[in-house]
Amino acid sequence: MKSLPKVRDFLADKERCRISSPRIREALKEALSRLPDSVYNNLVHGERPLYVAESSRIGGVVTLGFPSGLTLLTLNEALEERPLEEIVGIIAHELAHLALGHRFVSWEGKGKLRLREEYEADALACQWGFRDPLIAALRATMGEEAQNRLAILLKRGYHDQRG
Ligand SMILES: [Zn+2]
Repeated sequence: MKSLPKVRDFLADKERCRISSPRIREALKEALSRLPDSVYNNLVHGERPLYVAESSRIGGVVTLGFPSGLTLLTLNEALEERPLEEIVGIIAHELAHLALGHRFVSWEGKGKLRLREEYEADALACQWGFRDPLIAALRATMGEEAQNRLAILLKRGYHDQRG
C-alpha cells in the first residue's frame, strides 16, 4: 500500500480534489491508496496531473482528458448511493482508462469509447488488485454492456498480481 499521507495530501487539495461527498471521498482514498506507486505518481504528479470533480449533471461516471494541461476525472454524485466497494471498483476502472491514455468525452456520444477499451480498463484494474470491487460494481449495473464486461471478467479470471 502506498503511503497514505500522499493520498491524504491529494484529498486535502481543494483545487484538485473537488469531491464533497464523504462516501465518494472515502472510496477515492481507498482506490488511490491501492494503486501501484508508479501509476499513482504518473497520474497525480505526471505531465497532465489528475483533477477530480463531482457533478450532479453528468449522467454517469465519465473521464475527460484534455490534450494538454491536466486530466479531469468527473464522478457523478449519484455514486454515493452505491456500496463503498462498488464505488472503489468504478473509480479504479476510470483510473485505468486514464493510465491507458484513453481520452474521450463519453456523454456527448462523439468519440465514444470502444468496447475494447472498456475491457482493457477492466483488465488493468484487475491487475492492480481491484477485481472483486469491479465485479461487485458490474453485477449491480444494469445494461448489456456491463453484463458483457462482467461475463468476460468472470470467464478470464484475471489474477490479482499483487497476490
Ligand atoms: Zn469505462
